[in-house]
Amino acid sequence: MTEAAGEGTEDGAGTFTNWARTVTYTAREMHRPRTTEELAALVAGRARVRVLGSGHSFNRIADPGPDGVLLSTAGLPRTAEVDTAARTVRVAGGVRYAELARTVHAHGLALPNMASLPHISVAGSVATGTHGSGVGNAPLASAVREVELTVADGSTVTIGRDDERFGGAVTSLGALGVVTALTLGLEPAYEVEQRVYTGLPLAGLDFGAVAAAGYSVSLFTDWRQPGFGQVWVKRRTDRPATDFPWAVPAARPLHPVPGMPERNCTEQLGVPGPWHERLPHFRAEFTPSSGEEIQSEYLLPRPAAVDALHAIDGVRETVASVLQVCEVRTVAADAQWLSPAHGRDSVALHFTWVRDEAAVGPVVRRLEEVLEPFDPRPHWGKVYAVPSVVLRGRYARLVGFRALVRSLDPGGTFTNAFVRDLLGD
Ligand SMILES: Cc1cc2nc3c(=O)[nH]c(=O)nc-3n(C[C@H](O)[C@H](O)[C@H](O)COP(=O)(O)OP(=O)(O)OC[C@H]3O[C@@H](n4cnc5c(N)ncnc54)[C@H](O)[C@@H]3O)c2cc1C
Repeated sequence: MTEAAGEGTEDGAGTFTNWARTVTYTAREMHRPRTTEELAALVAGRARVRVLGSGHSFNRIADPGPDGVLLSTAGLPRTAEVDTAARTVRVAGGVRYAELARTVHAHGLALPNMASLPHISVAGSVATGTHGSGVGNAPLASAVREVELTVADGSTVTIGRDDERFGGAVTSLGALGVVTALTLGLEPAYEVEQRVYTGLPLAGLDFGAVAAAGYSVSLFTDWRQPGFGQVWVKRRTDRPATDFPWAVPAARPLHPVPGMPERNCTEQLGVPGPWHERLPHFRAEFTPSSGEEIQSEYLLPRPAAVDALHAIDGVRETVASVLQVCEVRTVAADAQWLSPAHGRDSVALHFTWVRDEAAVGPVVRRLEEVLEPFDPRPHWGKVYAVPSVVLRGRYARLVGFRALVRSLDPGGTFTNAFVRDLLGD
């Protein structure tokens, strides 16, 4: 991979930043244990610890603060044990989806869905509710069958689907312990063909039909006009084909971010290929998205999709002034208590901003004002301004999650300012 691997990016001054270099972690120390025994000893001896996956989040969710220790999972053994009979894989938390997908595919099996990029770690992704697209596809956490955690005293806790704590154990914001391994459910490998269509107007948009026209559908706009410059439709070849009469098929491969090279993207023009080489938009060997960016994303109840898009259209010029690209996806309801898609089929409105915090901040706040009537839940790994007191009202199971944090981590070893503020402690 062309980007810094495994633990955010060392900025040359001995400090560590996230992948986008928009957050410098304030941690006192950074450790990269090589074994789970070393990891357990490090955790047991520390007052405050946060885990870093591949560092692709855009806010301070992973930062332990100046009195804390950052633990990278990148040095741990990168195991992925496939059980073909049970159709499961037990994968180490720090393994990235690109690596996991190749292993699983080699056994003739597949994950149900992937995010837009395969560069992200499995544990870090499911911890923040990371998702792909598809009217029937819930977030990546929905594939998890069991979680293995190293908790504050260094011991191991395993939580499976039949455990009443499971609803809080996967999309856990890293607040319970170090996720050392996850067992994921798989299905037989399948092929996907990807086509990009251009020029879909907002006027008269039948969002339900467009979003259902493929296994995974993404609409892209730069909001410089009221419509979508590109629509990416990923169809499984083992399912009946669906027409896409609303826009024009592109004659050549495209990148969703204006000005970025299309060779960074997965194969298009309807060429069928393995699921893991089509479901992400970006190839594992190249920088995903633009690389110079800040991201925000909000999940809203799906019936609000068209009204919410028109509301954004009303502030189009403000949004467009700092926007690289906006992606609209669908996410099926999820049972994880802290999932932004918890209990509701959602539309996900994603914004790739320019990398200028001062300019982006006011636009994020304006955007949140216009989305407010639609009960938006922000992506936990991206930039948002919604106060925690408001967010608490949007998660009916937050009380249960707080109790789970207290029972597994009574001393608050894995609690940082982000989690403390959210839980209202
Ligand atoms: C270019 C780009 C494209 C993206 N596309 C999508 C997309 O398509 N869909 C989407 O939903 N999101 C997307 N994201 C957001 C990304 O998926 C999330 O930020 C995700 O959390 C990244 O995983 P990570 O391993 O980098 O997490 P990190 O940023 O390293 O950590 C995130 C959280 O997980 C915790 N954590 C990490 N590993 C562990 C562990 N082993 N045990 C316990 N806690 C742990 C951390 O403490 C932190 O709280 C994108 C981000 C980028 C940069």
